[in-house]
Amino acid sequence: MLIDTHCHLNFQAFAKDLDDVVRRAQEAGVEKIIIPGTDLASSKQAVEIAQTYATCYAAVGIHPHHAKDPDLALNDDLRQQLKELLTQPKVVAVGEIGLDYHVYKNTKYENTHITKEYQLKQKQLLELQLELAVIHKLPVILHCRDAHDDMIQTISAFAEATADKSSLGQQISRKHSPPNNYIKPAQVLPGVWHCFGGSTPQLQLIITMGYYVGFDGNITYSSDYSALVAATPLDRLLLETDSPFLTPVPYRGKRNEPGYLPYIAQTVAKYQTTPLSEVIHLSTNNALRLFRLG
Ligand SMILES: [Zn+2]
Ligand SMILES: [Zn+2]
Repeated sequence: MLIDTHCHLNFQAFAKDLDDVVRRAQEAGVEKIIIPGTDLASSKQAVEIAQTYATCYAAVGIHPHHAKDPDLALNDDLRQQLKELLTQPKVVAVGEIGLDYHVYKNTKYENTHITKEYQLKQKQLLELQLELAVIHKLPVILHCRDAHDDMIQTISAFAEATADKSSLGQQISRKHSPPNNYIKPAQVLPGVWHCFGGSTPQLQLIITMGYYVGFDGNITYSSDYSALVAATPLDRLLLETDSPFLTPVPYRGKRNEPGYLPYIAQTVAKYQTTPLSEVIHLSTNNALRLFRLG
């Protein structure tokens, strides 16, 4: 069994043939699919699809890109709307949330400059949702592009502040633990850094922080990702398609779908010089464990 841990079946690209896409995934051995939201509407759509198909699960969250939306107010009304979705059956994570400082050419928002103000709103939007993840005891699906150092800093600071407030922090301080008895941020806030594209030192840091790392079809395009994939311990690696984007070779150029996940698993096996069966077994166990899919 394979699990596609990041797949946007909630996007317009699948509106016409969702039944067929879900069936083909199952035929390819992809028996579970996690559908992340990117705003309130797509989160709601993810929840509806998860409640329609036995193999599908939803994540609810607002992507950093939408921090550009002038109508997005970071207030109790937003918290309430997210909470209503997060408490629905089959919601297994908060996501996708994060920081994204990349300048996109095709975007629905005018003025794509990455200003300090925009960065700050992304950070506040991220923190609001990290709080919800802690309250609802859900793991996070983290999106990060061109912002890895800021993300590492934000997540570490948030986890540290949360641990201080919790019994975990009290236990540690009562024992006067030495500094090397480090509480991993993922113990307070478990999650995955999806579609990882940072540097090898950044990868090592997020592994030390206790996080899972997701890889997608772009690893099949060239050997650019071979070192990153090889440096990721197999008990921390998750497979994802990010459909409809990042279609793996040999279907590159076409719409991506969860049934293509085996091509990503094969490429991981090649870079890790590990049998494919081992990659499938371990990555599936990782997904079951992180998202408590049972
Ligand atoms: Zn993403
Ligand atoms: Zn995504």
